Amino acid sequence: MTFKELGLNDALMKAIEDLGFENPTPIQLQTIPLLTGKQTDVVALAQTGTGKTAAFGLPLLELVDDNSRDTQALVLAPTRELGLQIASDLENFSEKFKKFNIVAVYGGSSISEQIRKVKKGAQIIVATPGRLIDLIDRKAINLGSIQYVVLDEADEMLNMGFKEDLDKILSFTPDEKNTWLFSATMPPDVAKLVAEIL
Ligand code: AMP
Repeated sequence: MTFKELGLNDALMKAIEDLGFENPTPIQLQTIPLLTGKQTDVVALAQTGTGKTAAFGLPLLELVDDNSRDTQALVLAPTRELGLQIASDLENFSEKFKKFNIVAVYGGSSISEQIRKVKKGAQIIVATPGRLIDLIDRKAINLGSIQYVVLDEADEMLNMGFKEDLDKILSFTPDEKNTWLFSATMPPDVAKLVAEIL
C-alpha cells in the first residue's frame, strides 16, 4: 500500500516524496489512516527504527492548524536526545507544506531561551517531562489548548521515574483531547498507564 492510498493530503504527499519515503512502514500503515480519519486515542507498540516518529508525526502535522498560534500538540519524550530528534524530524516533515513553530524544551540547556521561543507561539511542543514541569511552574507555558498528546517511548519514561511528572503534566491539559501512546514494550506499568489515561 502507498502513502497516497492512506489518504494523506496532496501537500503532505509532496513532503513525503521529498523525504524519499516510498512506502509506509507497518506501524505507519496502521496509525496514519486511523489518526487522520477520526479523533481517537491510540496505543502503538513500536520500537525505534520502525518509522514510529512519522507514524505519529505525519498525522499530527496534518491535523494541527498552522494558522493558529495556540499550542495544540505536546510530544513527550524521555530524553533530550530523543526530543531533539523528534523536533528535527517534525521540522523536516513539515517544512514544505505548513509553517509551524515547533519548539523543543529539555533540560541541560538555557531555560530563558526556551521560554522566549515558547512565548512566540508554538503550535507543537516537544518536551522532556522534567523541563516541562519547570516551565509549567514558572507559568511560562499554557497547555490549556492542547488537542493532541503523544507519549513517545512510554516504557522508558516510566523506567526513568517520570510517572509523577506525567500525571502532573496531563493535569494541565484539557480532559477532551487525543492521547497517542507509543511504547516499545508493554510491561504491566505501561498497561496500567494506558488504562489510566486513555
Ligand atoms: P524512527 O523509527 O522514527 O526512529 O525512524 C527510523 C528511520 O526511518 C528514520 O531515519 C526515518 O526518517 C526513516 N523512515 C521513516 N519512515 C519511513 C518510510 N516510510 N520509508 C523510508 N524511511 C522511513
